[in-house]
Amino acid sequence: MVGPVHLNHALRRPLRWRSVATTCLEQRTPWVSNIHSSTRTTHSSPCRRRHETRRYATAPQQPKQARAFPPLLIFGLLLGGTIYYLSTPARKSSTLNSDTFIPYTITSREAISPTSVILTIAPHHPDPSPPYLQPGTSLWRHPLWSIEFKQPEVQIARHYTPLPPMQGEDPADGRLRFYVRAVGGGEMSNYLSRLGVGRDVWLRGPHTGFDVLPRLGSRSHVVFLAGGTGLVPGMQVATAVLDGSDTTMVSLLWAVRKREEVQSRPAVTMSWWNLWAAKTPAELPADLESPSHIALNLREMKAKYGHRLSIRVAVDEEGTRFRGSDIQKALTAPVGPPSGSGPSGQGCRFHDQQLHEKTSEFEKPGCACQCPSSSAAQPGKNLFIISGPDGFISHYAGPKVWLGGALTQGPVGGVAAHLQRRYPSLTDDWLILKL
Ligand SMILES: Cc1cc2nc3c(=O)[nH]c(=O)nc-3n(C[C@H](O)[C@H](O)[C@H](O)COP(=O)(O)OP(=O)(O)OC[C@H]3O[C@@H](n4cnc5c(N)ncnc54)[C@H](O)[C@@H]3O)c2cc1C
Repeated sequence: MVGPVHLNHALRRPLRWRSVATTCLEQRTPWVSNIHSSTRTTHSSPCRRRHETRRYATAPQQPKQARAFPPLLIFGLLLGGTIYYLSTPARKSSTLNSDTFIPYTITSREAISPTSVILTIAPHHPDPSPPYLQPGTSLWRHPLWSIEFKQPEVQIARHYTPLPPMQGEDPADGRLRFYVRAVGGGEMSNYLSRLGVGRDVWLRGPHTGFDVLPRLGSRSHVVFLAGGTGLVPGMQVATAVLDGSDTTMVSLLWAVRKREEVQSRPAVTMSWWNLWAAKTPAELPADLESPSHIALNLREMKAKYGHRLSIRVAVDEEGTRFRGSDIQKALTAPVGPPSGSGPSGQGCRFHDQQLHEKTSEFEKPGCACQCPSSSAAQPGKNLFIISGPDGFISHYAGPKVWLGGALTQGPVGGVAAHLQRRYPSLTDDWLILKL
């Protein structure tokens, strides 16, 4: 979920922002031009349509037509003008939308470690119906989603993933929380990490990721392996699938570089420390002393979902890490229907691993499963999701691959491919996704 993806994606998005929003806004006055254009240029881009329209409206033959049908023309002008006015992104720009950046203010900033921070932000103009909530509820609309922040000085944008709401928080108030790591030489992450309470940030979104619920379908097991802030999409996915079904089980495997990400005051006498000292990733204990903000969030989730959610932590600096055997144990845990009980998923955009190779992690909602509906068994695959820095993803699942200007999933490689070769049923039962 890092590196060139964002660089490329982000560098392209601001250009679009400038050329569509700014240029189009500059040409926005003559309503007359829009009316004529709507029938003539239905296949043009919005900007281009406005250019062509204006030219067409000032062509010599137009006044004659206008004189012949004045009431119709006036009605058309009013109707077209209203439609144009309401549909222009600038009209939506005071609340969160996926076309323009809108201002939020930082209301809280909590340093977790020298390189990571939790930022809470609130919109300047609260939206009674934010686009990431199911209408009329306080429930998130998408299982996996992110928001772009822009750096106004250098005009770049990067994606960040909202943390699921904690107990007592009401998502309807518009506040969002983010776990941000400042990466070495990183323009946006360092900019964000330095901002204090009261400063403004600029957001665009939401942007939806893989639709995990229909992918999981009738299956019941999700293993989410996360490196650093790659945990946040794991928290999103866990919340969505555990809320979605009482029979789902989730294993969150979280690898961090330093203990501070989990616990602010290490106590070396603790049993948890002893487990770490034994070089084995440990289960996050319910009574963890001095938990970090993120560990508190995880503890709340654990209290809510009980045995259905397992959270294990590995700490680089203490020599613990997730090995092939840890992943294999998580993937072969005895849950869900036995191998081969559902459709193969071949040819289905949700369930065919090979089709995912050329797919980006950004997915528009509304796609449908294409598995044969005649099959007695319900479609679905257990999900093994890997999320984190490029090197982390490459090691565990093989690198993502650039294709036609987009970063795609690429073939399964690394530890996951090794396990698939060793346990062939994993290939049928599990879908592997890289974030
Ligand atoms: C959908 C999505 C959601 C994301 N959610 C979050 C989130 O919740 N929190 C978060 O902190 N980040 C998140 N990211 C990553 C984020 O978008 C940026 O890529 C990251 O903050 C680095 O941006 P930058 O401008 O600071 O670095 P850049 O200027 O883009 O990169 C500078 C250097 O740092 C390297 N680099 C970039 N990211 C990392 C990294 N994570 N670890 C090590 N080296 C890196 C680059 O390869 C490059 O060499 C998400 C990315 C995506 C695509």
